[in-house]
Amino acid sequence: MYRTKSCGELRLANAGERVTLAGWVQKSRRLGGMTFIDLRDRYGITQLVVEATAPESLTEVAASLGREYVIQAEGEVVERVNKNPKLPTGDIEIVLSSINILNKSVTPPFTIEEESDGGEDLRAKYRYLDLRRAPLQRALALRHRMAHEVRNYLDAQNFMEIETPYLIKSTPEGARDFVVPSRMNPGTFYALPQSPQTFKQLLMVAGYDRYFQIVRCFRDEDLRADRQPEFTQIDCEMSFVEQEDVLNTFEGLMRRLFKNVLDVEIPNPIPRMSWYDAMDNYGSDKPDIRFGMKINNITSLAQGHGFSVFDSVEYVGAIAVEGAAEYTRKQLDELTEWVKRPQIGAKGLVYIKCNADGSFKSSVDKFYSQEQVKAMAEQAGAKSGDLVLILCGAKRKTQGMLGTLRLEMGNRLGLRDPFNFAPLWVVDFPLLEWDDETNRFYAMHHPFTAPKPEQMELFYSNKKEDLERVNANAYDFVLNGTELGGGSIRIHNAAVQERMFEVLGISKEDAEYKFGFIINAFKFGAPPHGGIAFGFDRVCALFGGQDTIRDYIAFPKNNQGRDVMIDSPSYIDAEQMEELFLKSTAPKREE
Ligand code: ASP
Repeated sequence: MYRTKSCGELRLANAGERVTLAGWVQKSRRLGGMTFIDLRDRYGITQLVVEATAPESLTEVAASLGREYVIQAEGEVVERVNKNPKLPTGDIEIVLSSINILNKSVTPPFTIEEESDGGEDLRAKYRYLDLRRAPLQRALALRHRMAHEVRNYLDAQNFMEIETPYLIKSTPEGARDFVVPSRMNPGTFYALPQSPQTFKQLLMVAGYDRYFQIVRCFRDEDLRADRQPEFTQIDCEMSFVEQEDVLNTFEGLMRRLFKNVLDVEIPNPIPRMSWYDAMDNYGSDKPDIRFGMKINNITSLAQGHGFSVFDSVEYVGAIAVEGAAEYTRKQLDELTEWVKRPQIGAKGLVYIKCNADGSFKSSVDKFYSQEQVKAMAEQAGAKSGDLVLILCGAKRKTQGMLGTLRLEMGNRLGLRDPFNFAPLWVVDFPLLEWDDETNRFYAMHHPFTAPKPEQMELFYSNKKEDLERVNANAYDFVLNGTELGGGSIRIHNAAVQERMFEVLGISKEDAEYKFGFIINAFKFGAPPHGGIAFGFDRVCALFGGQDTIRDYIAFPKNNQGRDVMIDSPSYIDAEQMEELFLKSTAPKREE
């Protein structure tokens, strides 16, 4: 037996026991003839001691230990004189009678402790060493626990876990596909699934009325904003359901995860907000409702007073920042520069200070009386002591900028505690989104989302304004300003699905070539159905109080989409290329 106990389990009550531990040497130091060793495994760290009176041979072995050596150590559990309250095992140490070196280690390139001195790239290259660190072990343990809870809950609700293929044909989720050349079918390619969307719908046609899968999805996107080219979804689909049934089922899942994993009670029911209200009041389809500071429309109060900047735009909106009336000139200048950065794109920032003495000071005092400024401040929801920040321009765009500014001010005021959880359903999305550049509609969710049944007439209209008004039974689960999941009630009728492709400007032939299989399946008695998918990596990260998903994935890629540990993607040899009927037009590689 290599070990009788783990490095995380011994307590004072074990004093006097003889134990054998096995693990990695995190640290070893000599102190007045004694050697102290911190031994680590997945379960924790235990201090080992070789006493000054120990046989010379043992002291020698102890002295030879380097960081990350793997050893087996036997000894007696004793109470520590200098207890370490930071370690669960800190009340005891093991006085050793033997050490067996199981394997040596070269010096690791960074410290493998709670905090590491290694930079991100270095740690990525030696991911297996980084994974020995406690924060990553906690992250993966949380992920494991979450997956387990998801399976238990869905199993109890009669969901069946069914695997769907990875080598498929394109699924339209709005990103580029990764493709895989087929050797056996020269010149053709599989696509890796952006999600199992079409397959889960086919499972509904097949009568498996409650499906789920914790499944890998692949999207060839630009990797800004903490995305991964392969990521995991909790993917679900249900038959004979309306929106209400889906929301209730998955509220149950979320409630259970929060309760069982974090011991947190979330609001019951989870609040709901229409997409239109989210955009108008928060400038975002994923509002962070941990704090107020809502966006207010002050257009009618701002216009008609000779200030041409406001008079010439569609929309003037404002947020009231609590207690910020005391912002200095310098702070306001800095904020103005902040909103003018290309990522935000505002042309300028107008402010109103609501002074404690009841007076108002604004950057546009020239154009407005105190009364008029007061009216705008009040419309913005400000009280005395607050700072009103105003942006103007095209409505949705300006609301978006105000939304970003709101989040920034929320951060600066410390209103976004990661362990304060404010979940929300955003519902009633528009079905379609017009794109001026390509001059066509795109599905806001995906092309299988059904229009609201009572709006069928509008859906068959050929007027752009009518189609823009069609809503969908689509819903997103939002937590603390992050979209964690989304889904919809689907089209289950072949003719409606064909109309959808037509609205999206996909020709009949193209629709037939790409999606003929699903249109055809709908002709064989497709049940009404709907579903949802959650971004599992991100759910885990938020539960862990982090905003990056990388630590919740054992072997993630960097933001160039590379795995620097295995050095992938990489070139394949000429023979393999030929076998796959491929010729590369990429610039010649350096040999
Ligand atoms: N397939 C969708 C997605 O990946 C989710 C869904 O509609 O169920 O976003």
